[in-house]
Amino acid sequence: MSELALAASRSLVVDPALLEKYQFSGPRYSWYPTADRFGPQFRPLDLLRQLAKRGEEGGQNPVSVYVHLPFCDTVCYYCARDKVVTREHSRVAEYLGYLEREFATQRGALGCDEEVAQLHLGGGTPTFLSIEEMGRLMDLLRRYFLLLPGGEYSIEIDPRRIAAGTIEHLGSLGFNRLSLGVQDFDPEVQKKVNRVQSFNETARAVNAARSNGFQSVGFDLIYGLPAQSAQSVSRTLETALRLRPDRIALYNYAHLPALFIPQRRIDAAELPSPEEKICILSSAIDELMAAGYVYIGMDHFALPEDELAQTQGRGGPQRSSHGYSAHAHCDLLAFGVSAIAAVGDTYSQNHRTLEEYYACLERGELPVFRGHRLDADDVLRREIIQRLTCDFRVSFEDLNARFGIDFHDYFAEERAVLAELEDDGLIETMRDGITVTARGRLLVRVVCMAFDRYIRAARSEARYSNVI
Ligand code: SF4
Repeated sequence: MSELALAASRSLVVDPALLEKYQFSGPRYSWYPTADRFGPQFRPLDLLRQLAKRGEEGGQNPVSVYVHLPFCDTVCYYCARDKVVTREHSRVAEYLGYLEREFATQRGALGCDEEVAQLHLGGGTPTFLSIEEMGRLMDLLRRYFLLLPGGEYSIEIDPRRIAAGTIEHLGSLGFNRLSLGVQDFDPEVQKKVNRVQSFNETARAVNAARSNGFQSVGFDLIYGLPAQSAQSVSRTLETALRLRPDRIALYNYAHLPALFIPQRRIDAAELPSPEEKICILSSAIDELMAAGYVYIGMDHFALPEDELAQTQGRGGPQRSSHGYSAHAHCDLLAFGVSAIAAVGDTYSQNHRTLEEYYACLERGELPVFRGHRLDADDVLRREIIQRLTCDFRVSFEDLNARFGIDFHDYFAEERAVLAELEDDGLIETMRDGITVTARGRLLVRVVCMAFDRYIRAARSEARYSNVI
């Protein structure tokens, strides 16, 4: 891709009228079909068979591994994750014991030494684990899998809860990418969401990561929290930019208290209005662009020298369960309570409570409670959504050749929705493909929804977060 084309592919135009029009709920498309389409018909045995198939076929790409570490010692009120809030540190040892059973069962089903090119520890709060416990977890992983040198090894950390020497130790264990929960630096906002975190705590973690050779440091920020305004988020960004994180994820807070109990502690009357949220987003993007960040896609920005930006237009980045990755799609093995795996054309999710997760492993079963086997149509639509969210473009020729279809015939039913998106300026249809315009990029989820067969059938359900 030429420099000019590359620059064009990164451009972003904030159009408040469009954002206002498309403020309806929609999925983030970490998976297609989305997790709410997974069902109990996909059994633990199905995952075992899928793993065995992978093992028998051999000679495949290395795998990605995700390990979910659910413990947190306090609750943040905006939280929508699967977590266990506890002060009982002793629970970690028990959890690691069950993780080992899960590693052993999956390794047994695979029947071969799998090479791991990517590892991500998420949570919860992975740094709830002590240095010794983290060492034990990595020993276990290395006992069952081959962690390749030079792989992408990332971990989410909570800067409020890390003992001295933790980041140095994480570096010595092989971690080279760090993602920090920051959310907002404003003391009033922090109090309202029960996450008080000083600039110094965050700065210490960033500096420790840099001096211990971490290649990339990312911040998670949230807009739409109580007491936020365009001015307060702008101050937060200014503060964050003093530390020059390599990556910034700017998430939209979705207030869904019926689904997420901690959110009931947030007073909906203190949330910024939809119009204020558009102002916040618009000025935040201006600030990020002015500071030299590149738009990667969905909620993600990166410095031009970060590998996510470097691989843009050169076969990457790829979207994964935890954002974007510079590496090509790999099968994802997942471990721990609530974790989602993607192996071949299947998805599977583990039980979401510790009790059920432990009980399955006690019985010698994989702790899968639901999943989905993709049919040919799912695979095609997944590819389109992957291309839209990563490249902002789909090529008719490529899809026709790879999937043996005629795009225009196959997607005849989608034509009316696509025409409306085109009339509104979100996409451009050309002879050879569809491109998401600079004005449409922030709304790429809306474009993806046009290709989501399941959402069409359940359009009336309002269970997703607003796209902006
Ligand atoms: S946001 Fe993170 S640290 Fe806070 S409760 Fe949720 S998982 Fe725990």
